[in-house]
Amino acid sequence: MTLEYFQYSYMSDNYGVLVHSPRTGETASIDCGDATATLAALNKQQWSLTHIWATHHHADHVAGLAELKQHSQCKVTGPAGINGVDHIVEDGSTFDFAGVRVNTLHTPGHTKDMINYHMPTEKVVFTGDTLFSLGCGRLFEGDANMMWNSLNKLMALPSDTTVYSSHEYTEANAAFAVSVDPKNQALQARVATIKALRAEGRPTVPSLLSEELATNPFLRAADPLMREHLKMQNATDADVFAELRSRKDNF
Ligand code: ZN
Ligand code: FE
Repeated sequence: MTLEYFQYSYMSDNYGVLVHSPRTGETASIDCGDATATLAALNKQQWSLTHIWATHHHADHVAGLAELKQHSQCKVTGPAGINGVDHIVEDGSTFDFAGVRVNTLHTPGHTKDMINYHMPTEKVVFTGDTLFSLGCGRLFEGDANMMWNSLNKLMALPSDTTVYSSHEYTEANAAFAVSVDPKNQALQARVATIKALRAEGRPTVPSLLSEELATNPFLRAADPLMREHLKMQNATDADVFAELRSRKDNF
C-alpha cells in the first residue's frame, strides 16, 4: 500500500476516513459530515487537507464541506448536485490521487446520486451508505432493483478489497443477518467477533469484501440455504434482495 488510512468517528455512528500520501503530502477526506471532527482528525495525524471525495448529498456526509473548503482550499470531487463540488464524477470516471488511480462507481439505491470510490492498486473501496458491514443502505430514493444492481457492481470487485463504509451499524445488522441466514457458519463466527469488538468499543469497519460475500445477507440473494429458509427457491436474485430489504426495514 502506497497510501495511509485514518478512520475516525463522528456524530452518533458515522465514520470518516482520511487517505494520505506520505510521498506527496496530499490528504483526501472521504465525506465531511462534521468539519470539526475532520479538522481534529487532520490535526491528530498532522496532515493537511487537499481533497474531499463526497459520496452522496445527505447532511451527515457533506454538512462540513463549505467550512473545510474555506479552511483549506481543498478540491472537492463528488456527484453532481452537491454544493461546492469542483470535479463531478459518474459511473466509470477515473482520476489520479497522489499517483494512485481512483475509479468511481455509481451505486444508486440509498440515494440516486451515490458515488463509491475504488482504488484497485490499494485494494480499497469506500462504499458510503451503499454497502455496510453485514448490511446495506435503506432505499430512500431508489428501489430494490436499483440497489441490487449497485451491490452487484461492488460484488464484482476483487474479494480481497477492504470495504470502508460510513456507519457503525454492524451489531444491529448482525441480529438481522442471523434471522434470515441461520445456517450460515461463517456468519455465526463473524457475529461472535463483532460482539467482542463492540463490547470493547472497537470499530467493526472496515471489513473485507470476502467476509461480506460470505456473511452479508444482502449480497447472498443467490445462496441456496438462505433461499430455502426464506422459501424463495424459485425467485429471482433481485426479488430475494427486495424481500430481505423489506424485512430489514420492519425488523
Ligand atoms: Zn446517507
Ligand atoms: Fe449516512
